Amino acid sequence: MAIPSNGVRLVGRLAPSPTGALHLGNARTFLLAWLSVRARGGTILLRVEDIDGPRVKPGATAATVADLRWLGLDWDGDAVLQSSRLTDYAAAVGKLLAASRVYPCVCTRSEIEDAASAPHETADDGPVYPGTCRGRFASIEAACVETGREPALRFRVDRDAVPFEDAFRGPQRGRVAGDFVVQKRDGGPAYQLAVVVDDAEQGVTDVLRADDLLPSTPRQLLLYQALGLPPPSFCHVPLVVGEDGLRLAKRHGDTSLRWLRDQGVTADRLGGHLAFLCGLRPKGTKCTPRELLRDFDLDKLPRAPVRGDEHGLLA
Ligand SMILES: [Zn+2]
Repeated sequence: MAIPSNGVRLVGRLAPSPTGALHLGNARTFLLAWLSVRARGGTILLRVEDIDGPRVKPGATAATVADLRWLGLDWDGDAVLQSSRLTDYAAAVGKLLAASRVYPCVCTRSEIEDAASAPHETADDGPVYPGTCRGRFASIEAACVETGREPALRFRVDRDAVPFEDAFRGPQRGRVAGDFVVQKRDGGPAYQLAVVVDDAEQGVTDVLRADDLLPSTPRQLLLYQALGLPPPSFCHVPLVVGEDGLRLAKRHGDTSLRWLRDQGVTADRLGGHLAFLCGLRPKGTKCTPRELLRDFDLDKLPRAPVRGDEHGLLA
């Protein structure tokens, strides 16, 4: 494990989800996560978040790993697959159950939408849960028997906000919108739980990710606290958006690394383009991630969402 010169152990991670091809937007976030840790002499881990059921496509894990390597990113040790850690997630849920921090919930999404007192108010994963099942069932078994449904497990949120300091965005109010799911109805872990259990177990100290995950951070901080685990420091960076200002997606054209590579874009050309999108190099530069380490400075990153697509790469 690398120890940076100041003696503080620094561990970051790349956590791709193999639900689609790696595109410009997530490649840029992974590059920043890699640079911010490697530039300080830290350790980088690779964790593949492959438990999103039907959205995970066969062969996508290998393709994602190959894309990251082609881009010039590396990591320490073997990749960890979330699908191999289901017993760890179940153990964490067991702890939360034993401490009465979670309760069974049988509500469907449409029931939650109908019951929400302020339907316009949303959490990061849909309408704010109105608390229908809080205190409703004596146990998970009782919830099954009484309703004939397999329940999800929800975390009992006991405050409105969890303020925290974001390494890029500064102080955050950290609003928590309602009780949230930690175990889905099919028994699988929710994203919030898996990511907390993994980051803690892997000793991750620094999380850098896109700011679409900013609203889930207070929930994760509550889970760290409830599980008695030390939280990492969080750094949320702006997303790459298309010319229309909306999050980069298929309608903006194909920006997958594989497609760009097939069009003849070289890895150093792409590396330079990503560096340009990070405010680290002028447009048209060619460079590898390693060449960016020397003068990497997160403060050069634009504060607003960055407009970027394949234009300029294929010229
Ligand atoms: Zn419910």
